[in-house]
Amino acid sequence: MVSGRYKADGSLEDHGRLSVREKRWRIEVPWELSTERRRFSIAHEIGHILLFDAVAENPQLVQQLRGRELWARVERLCNIGAANLLMPAATYRAAVDPLLPPNRRTISAMAARFQVSLSAVARRIAEVQPEWSVIFWELAMTHPKGAAWRTAGLQHRGGTSFLPSGMSSSRLQPDIVSQAAVAGEASAQNVLADLPGVGIMEDAWALHIPRARNELIEIEGGKNLGQPERVLVFYRSPTKR
Ligand SMILES: [Zn+2]
Repeated sequence: MVSGRYKADGSLEDHGRLSVREKRWRIEVPWELSTERRRFSIAHEIGHILLFDAVAENPQLVQQLRGRELWARVERLCNIGAANLLMPAATYRAAVDPLLPPNRRTISAMAARFQVSLSAVARRIAEVQPEWSVIFWELAMTHPKGAAWRTAGLQHRGGTSFLPSGMSSSRLQPDIVSQAAVAGEASAQNVLADLPGVGIMEDAWALHIPRARNELIEIEGGKNLGQPERVLVFYRSPTKR
């Protein structure tokens, strides 16, 4: 078993499990998941298989891949692999091009076409269209500095900015994150952003994803974080042009 955990009752947690049976790889995913989550889980496990195959000749590396130390990085890598598998760059770019700038309708259309979650669509847009960035926000009720919409722990990494988690959306002017949380979505031509490496967001657009849309699997340090309530903010970064 490479990844996957069991609940106390022995059932699978809400991501996949990989094992070898009669010299063949075997992927198991919980049936209760949405189609999108199952697809992502399976693609993620295929990432593990490719990784193991790539280092199979080197027992020491195989051992390292299974260790705690590399867990978070391996998980991240397999999530990247899954995104590439489900949304191949060339196909995805061709599909998303005429749909930009992103809006609720086009993001939903992409999610339906590629059968992935809205979050996965959002991350992938920022990967294949480098002029666009996306920031994920979560409603943090128990943060030491007070309840607020704050930058989520797992951001899309790329471009010029790297955001620490836990920064309040009050650093945005206007605060389109809070606006979107109330209205479903919000936009502004320019948002002043007091965030490291960001400064100003052009053509900013925020989308609220309620918790009920049980979607993307996020794993860090082996802990499945599930999908809390989120707001995604797309923007064009002037420094990337
Ligand atoms: Zn994994």
